[in-house]
Amino acid sequence: MIIILQSGASEDQIQHVIERVEALGLKAHLSRGTFRTIIGVIGEEQKIASEPLRAIPGVQDVVPVLPPYKLASREAHPQPSIVEVAGVKIGGGNLAMIAGPCAVEEPERMDTIARAIKAAGANILRGGAYKPRTSPYAFQGLGEEGLKILREAGDQHGLPVVTEVMDPRCVPAVEKWADMIQIGARNMQNFVLLTEVGRTRKPVLLKRGMSATVEDLLMSAEYILSQGNSNVVLCERGVKGFDKATRNLYDVASVAVVKGLSHLPIIVDPSHATGRPDLIPPCALAGVAVGADGVHIEVHDCPERAKSDGPQALLPKQYAEVAAKIRQLAAMFGKTISTVPGR
Ligand code: PEP
Ligand code: MN
Repeated sequence: MIIILQSGASEDQIQHVIERVEALGLKAHLSRGTFRTIIGVIGEEQKIASEPLRAIPGVQDVVPVLPPYKLASREAHPQPSIVEVAGVKIGGGNLAMIAGPCAVEEPERMDTIARAIKAAGANILRGGAYKPRTSPYAFQGLGEEGLKILREAGDQHGLPVVTEVMDPRCVPAVEKWADMIQIGARNMQNFVLLTEVGRTRKPVLLKRGMSATVEDLLMSAEYILSQGNSNVVLCERGVKGFDKATRNLYDVASVAVVKGLSHLPIIVDPSHATGRPDLIPPCALAGVAVGADGVHIEVHDCPERAKSDGPQALLPKQYAEVAAKIRQLAAMFGKTISTVPGR
């Protein structure tokens, strides 16, 4: 990092800053200009807080040189990471096709949906057993019973399963029944929960918070990585916008931004990003075109009976149509879609 001193900084103040830097185990490189003096700090800057340095008298600003997320950064890991979800690869040229209902519902319905999405080419089944609902009176999910139903449907059709966890106390159950743990947008900065899933070795699908910057997202990934769990997949699912035309504002450019900054795979969720079935197919393709490592789409065979997010669900037939186009685009970009066999 670079410490910029105030124009009138005294010699005593400059020496004091150097002493503080050295006391932190870092090297200080003094550079005196005509108008300003700066101190280059050499060492592991990500491990020290810049705030106390900013508070030293005579310091005007502290400018980090490296990103604050060390493990998630491209510098730390120049090659793209591949995350494996029970045999299905995501990243590094491998495309995930995650589909399923918003919430896990009764076994027959899950079986119907799983069969349909598998036939359409999906490689991972999704469904929430613990649902983050705005209203406490809305359907909250089937809980552990839902985890078992999801597991059974996935096993039956050769689809690894991903499901959301909201409460650190539920991590052991989700770890037991699922192949991938989802952290939803509302919990992206629940640091206790991030630490808890970081202690597992299960792949984590980390969705971008609705008001989170790309840097916030990468810092949340860093929480998981710093616990030793390197299996993190990011997800762009739209941020809060001012226009009610779509449910959220689909920030498709953030996929390319993340690709430049991090080695972690990133997928897109055009279902929650747009909230509109008519916009999901084109926005799914836009995500793949911009470099996403996967597409996450909500599918329901009877949206009017769905327990949550029915209005944005694609019918299996609509999913099959967009899946065929995704496959064409994936082939154009030389991407592979890995699958695992069913029972
Ligand atoms: C979901 O995937 O069902 C969900 C609630 O998504 P998000 O956290 O992105 O709103
Ligand atoms: Mn949903």
